Amino acid sequence: MLYRSTRGNCSNVSSAEAIKRGLAADGGLFVPEKIIHFDKDQILKMSEMTYQERALNILEGYLDDYTLGELTDCVNQAYTAQKFETEAIAPLHKLYDSVSVLELWHGPTSAFKDMALQILPHFLVKALKKTGEKEEIVILVATSGDTGKAALEGFKDVEGTKIIVFFPSEGVSQVQRMQMVTQEGSNVCSIAVEGNFDDAQNGVKRIFGDEAVAALLHENGYKFSSANSINWGRLVPQIVYYFSAYADMIRNKEIETGEKINFVVPTGNFGNILAAYYAMQMGLPVNKLICASNDNNVLTDFINSGVYDRNREFKKTLSPSMDILISSNLERLLYLVTDGNSEAVSGWMGKLKNEGFYSVDQETKKKIQSVFWAGFSNDSDTLKTIESVYAETGYVLDTHTAVAVDVYDKYVISTSDVTKAVIVSTASPFKFNESVVKAIAGEEAVAGKTEFELLSVLSEKSGLAIPSPLKELDRKPVLHKEICRPMDMAEKVKRTLGI
Ligand SMILES: *Cc1c(COP(=O)(O)O)cnc(C)c1O
Repeated sequence: MLYRSTRGNCSNVSSAEAIKRGLAADGGLFVPEKIIHFDKDQILKMSEMTYQERALNILEGYLDDYTLGELTDCVNQAYTAQKFETEAIAPLHKLYDSVSVLELWHGPTSAFKDMALQILPHFLVKALKKTGEKEEIVILVATSGDTGKAALEGFKDVEGTKIIVFFPSEGVSQVQRMQMVTQEGSNVCSIAVEGNFDDAQNGVKRIFGDEAVAALLHENGYKFSSANSINWGRLVPQIVYYFSAYADMIRNKEIETGEKINFVVPTGNFGNILAAYYAMQMGLPVNKLICASNDNNVLTDFINSGVYDRNREFKKTLSPSMDILISSNLERLLYLVTDGNSEAVSGWMGKLKNEGFYSVDQETKKKIQSVFWAGFSNDSDTLKTIESVYAETGYVLDTHTAVAVDVYDKYVISTSDVTKAVIVSTASPFKFNESVVKAIAGEEAVAGKTEFELLSVLSEKSGLAIPSPLKELDRKPVLHKEICRPMDMAEKVKRTLGI
């Protein structure tokens, strides 16, 4: 299986090479040249498998330059019951008769990024050996909050790698900030950037595109790679949990094999929901993919109108991990729905870069709308959703998942479609506890309390245990104190590497 660039201007590479490089040389994203198919019987068989076996089943098709032994090794190191505090790894929780929640936040950082970032470093280390890499890999990450910590956890002390994470100084929660600035490990560094996520992400993209910086790194035995959700090694493990959720629904006799279901995905960079689209193309019976945004509703507008326009105010919301105006992984969707029309994709991406917007043709728009439905939830509706779901069921949603539940309600009202649905839950409520406690217990309950004090308030209210990695967080020493302007990010990288 080879991987080609969505922009079509560089030669095809193996999966190990694609994972090592992150981004293609022409600025495009790597996509597999074929889609692996699963038929009904194969999907039925998955219902009797463990999460690890399901993962292996999906991965071996796409990462076929890895041996089965190597992949088994990666899977077994990443998805342990110890790290995820549950044997199921990605358990399904039945919320209402026809609605279940897929909990993707049982990993070490309490958010769904762990599903991919616990395994990516293992893919990468093996990729370095396979491709005869001599240079040390420098992972640069721009994060809206959750990726940064998940990448730091995934890469800490991984041989042959260094990791530098840039997070926006405005727009991460106290918990997220503390998770990053207290990170331990000999090869890790986190730096605050003045500005928002797009400032940090654009800064990282600029560094990646800077030939002088690349040359300097090379002279010093280093080479950049990316752990952002543009890396194929991030995307492919995310396909697994869509199959896993479906297999669990068969096992729980919620559905017949072959019955179509809906997935509702709280979306930012379009990585998670793109994995759902891949799963669907691979044969998973899906009716609709519901794309849920917060007030930064660029994707809602795009899916409904065919016009992607980032020229709008950036809003800070209660679901900060979705505060994004440029959804990078959309490029892969455009490539797929245009049957690999690199020329069109390059044109749109060029227009986005230069003018901040592009408009797709009618046919492309129709094709996207045949699969996707899009809506958004503002902060006030998000909080109301947390409150009402808690009142009705006792189940506590985090803000990102609440965006999805609210958009799902809007979907049902607008379409009357009551196909069984899975809400993809991307964070533990403990991670965004201030908003969550406010929603279920009122303003008074949060007044004068830090997010760390609120952990125990939420624990009492929900009857859930505080996830162990969050428990002692406020007492950990701060190890990373740097802050810089977006224009100084390259300098910071050089200084961190001592070059
Ligand atoms: C990253 C993240 C998202 C958005 O996922 P994308 O793959 O970027 O669309 C949603 N919720 C949480 C909690 C996240 O960390």
